[in-house]
Order: sequence, then structure tokens, then C-alpha cells
Amino acid sequence: MPAAIIDGKAIAATIRAEIKAEVDDLRARTGKVPGLATVLVGARKDSQTYVRMKKKACAEVGIESFGHDLPEDIAQEELLGVVRDLNANPDVHGILVQLPLPDHIDDEEILGAVSLEKDVDGFHPLNIGRLSMKRRDPLFVPCTPKGCIELLDRSGVEISGKQAVVLGRSNIVGLPVAMLLLHRNATLTVCHSRTQDLPGVVRRADILIAAVGRAEMVRGDWLKPGAVVIDVGVNAVDAPDTEKGYRLTGDVAFDEASEVAAMITPVPGGVGPMTIAMLLRNTTDSAKRAIA
Ligand code: NAP
Repeated sequence: MPAAIIDGKAIAATIRAEIKAEVDDLRARTGKVPGLATVLVGARKDSQTYVRMKKKACAEVGIESFGHDLPEDIAQEELLGVVRDLNANPDVHGILVQLPLPDHIDDEEILGAVSLEKDVDGFHPLNIGRLSMKRRDPLFVPCTPKGCIELLDRSGVEISGKQAVVLGRSNIVGLPVAMLLLHRNATLTVCHSRTQDLPGVVRRADILIAAVGRAEMVRGDWLKPGAVVIDVGVNAVDAPDTEKGYRLTGDVAFDEASEVAAMITPVPGGVGPMTIAMLLRNTTDSAKRAIA
């Protein structure tokens, strides 16, 4: 039997509807709505697209967005000033600094300046630190990792006691998703570019989270039969016969994997929509803490 599809688009739509109801309720009770500030530096097309998608998603659920589009050559101090002003603005409950920032900017200092209470991306060192420790709840969990766990939960996948393998150890995906799986009592293995016998390690996984950024690297015969596969990768590969000239694919060879896995996320339409839904979730939770 081919794997069941974990439909991230549909699950994210359900979550957005839940959030919209909460925002409506907050507005009715308090006259206030959640506010998300987006800080975009420079003119990278992909970053502009991501910020536009986030603002559109906010508007659809009734979250107010405050856009700050800043020039590529902005000085570190000036950018810090923007973040500090947003920290002080009571209508702003979440601050999203779109990454990557230009090379001359010290992004560690900028992310560290975001108020802990408004760190809806969950990248503040204190939030990441708390995420890494037992029984120290962070105020916010990074959106993509949180979305991966939500996909598992809403698909009825048991995490506790299972062998989980995470491919990738980045600060934004691999590392935090590994921490979340560990807290949920998975037995965890984290792989990276120096891991030996990757197929052999992946074959142990009951749950595989692939966040590598290598198109279709994970083949069908790397998987344990019945595994659950969450494919975070988004890779553009040439497709000359399509209108755009490229198509998006994950880190997992979907067709092959579907023959072996029990459940799998597609790319696109898997983890991607969940990332934005979790940003709305974090912003709304933040507003409820501040207002309600
Ligand atoms: P990243 O910062 O480049 O990290 C990639 C990780 O994969 C690193 O830990 C690296 O190992 C490891 N790796 C690279 N090549 C490998 C190989 N051949 N074998 C084993 N491990 C290897 O990437 P990222 O930011 O975590 O993103 C990963 C993917 O997820 C990308 O495709 C990105 O576009 C996608 N993504 C999607 C969403 C979404 O919302 N859907 C959000 C974020 C990211 P080392 O640590 O040893 O270098």
C-alpha cells in the first residue's frame, strides 16, 4: 500500500481557522487584535516573497501586520533602534526579523535584541536555551520545528519511545526539532554532513525528519518499512518543460519513499504551510498573554 499523505496544506488551513476564531474572540472581548511586525532588510526576492506571504496570512486571520522595509545598507545601530522601538510598541506582539540579514549586520546581536516576550520566531538565545533544557518551557518554539511536531500529532503518530532520526543540525530546523522530539521521549539520532553510513542510520528510523537541503537525497531503500517521513527540504530543480523552468522538491525521493513509508509529507504542501501557521499561532499566543 502506498504511504498515506500527511496533508500539510489541509492541516494548516484547520489551524488558521482555529486561530481566526481566537482572534475574533479576543477582538470581541478586548477590542484589540494580535500584531506582528515584519522587519525586512534589503531587496532579496525570496525574502520579499516570504514576508508578503506572512503578511497575507496575518490579514486572513485578523492579525494586524506592521511592515518595516529597510535599505540594504542600513547601519547596525539603526536596525537595533527599529527592533527596540518595536519592543516598546504595545500593539506589536510578535517581531519577525526576516533572515538572512546582509553580511555587514551582526545578526546574533539583532536577534538577541528582540524582546523575549515578542520572539515569535523563537530564535532568541534564551528561548533556544530553554528549549534545550529539561522542564524549562521556552516562551516560543521556532515555527518550522513546531510545525513538524504538529503534523505528527495531528496525524495520530505516537512519538514516545520511537526511534527518531533527524537529518540536519541547523539552528533553525534540525537542532530545535531534535530537542522537541527528545522532550517527547523519542530515542533520538541527529545526522549531519560527517555522519557515516547515512542510509544505515536512516533505516533505523520510525520517524524521519529530513532537513538537509539536498534534492531527493533520501532514497526509498534508505527507509524502514512503515516509517513516518516529514520532509522539510525545499529544493529547486531544473524542469525545462515547465513554465517557471524549475520545480520544487524535498530532501526525500517522494515516489520511491511512498512505496516503503506508512506516512509522508509532500513538497510542496507539507511542512511549508505549517511554518506560517505556527507563526500565526505564536503571535496569537503572545497577544493573548499580553492582552487577555
Ligand atoms: P542548513 O542550515 O543548510 O543545514 C543543513 C544541514 O544538513 C546541516 O546540518 C548539514 O550538515 C546537513 N547536511 C548537508 N549536506 C548533507 C549531506 N550530504 N549528508 C548529511 N547531512 C548533510 O539548512 P536548513 O536551514 O536547516 O534547511 C534545510 C532545508 O529545509 C532546506 O531545503 C530549506 O530550504 C528547508 N527549509 C524549509 C522550511 C519550510 O518552512 N518548509 C523552513 C526552513 C528550511 P553540517 O551541519 O555538517 O553542515
